[in-house]
Amino acid sequence: MKKNNISNRETAIWQKKELIVFDLDGTLAKSKAVMDDEMMRLLSQLLAVKRVAVIGGGKYGLFKMQLIGPLKKCSKELLRNMFLFPTTSTAFYRYDHGWKNVYTLNLSTRDRVRIKNEFRNVMKEVGYVSPKKVYGKVIEDRGTQITFSALGQEIVAHLGEKEGVRLKERWRKENTPIKLKMAKMLAKQLPQFEVHAAGFTSIDVTRKGIDKAYGIRQIERYLRVPVKNMLFIGDAIFPGGNDYAAKKTGVLCVPIDSPEDTKQVIKKILG
Ligand SMILES: [Mg+2]
Repeated sequence: MKKNNISNRETAIWQKKELIVFDLDGTLAKSKAVMDDEMMRLLSQLLAVKRVAVIGGGKYGLFKMQLIGPLKKCSKELLRNMFLFPTTSTAFYRYDHGWKNVYTLNLSTRDRVRIKNEFRNVMKEVGYVSPKKVYGKVIEDRGTQITFSALGQEIVAHLGEKEGVRLKERWRKENTPIKLKMAKMLAKQLPQFEVHAAGFTSIDVTRKGIDKAYGIRQIERYLRVPVKNMLFIGDAIFPGGNDYAAKKTGVLCVPIDSPEDTKQVIKKILG
């Protein structure tokens, strides 16, 4: 949905919401990249008038790099209005004299070993061959989830945003069918876990029932804001997209296509 035709009526509804919830990758920043200066400014302005929660599949380290780094000029008072829910709300961080972990729900060691083995089996079975050059781990144990990243977890950190995202987009174009096949096989082998073919180049395995709907409910529970007082903005609110599950909670959703669209939405909320 292109966000250049937003009605005043829509805007008025958004402005009444108490908490604005953003997806991270593709919504506040490009995939695994640092959010840009304009987004940083808009988010700071938004924090002055609203509470803001960010929910993403990435781990806290990525949130730090993508969001917290650019927000370091933001006043401590404003940061207290910001709430971070990495790895799809299986962890929660809030600002109180520095960023503090409120909870982290890890998978058991046994489950993590089992999932990693299953990834290797499935790769073998479909004949998947990793690219010659990868950047960091391809199968990463995030504690709360195991994530396959075709080009390695640190590609953007190594090559910079432009080249990293370019290679990921190329990989996606060439390899989406094999990625989806792998995800399907994993889901069959690991029925007690949730398998998500998230992002351009990744597959996440988490506890069952951990999706954006779970994420929104955790936010509701920990921030004590009813779903009806939230607005959720995401770039994958369509069937098959990793934000789509949020709809199950009844939260008002604003589908966007890119961080540029998100900026238009924030500007409207700011009025
Ligand atoms: Mg996204």
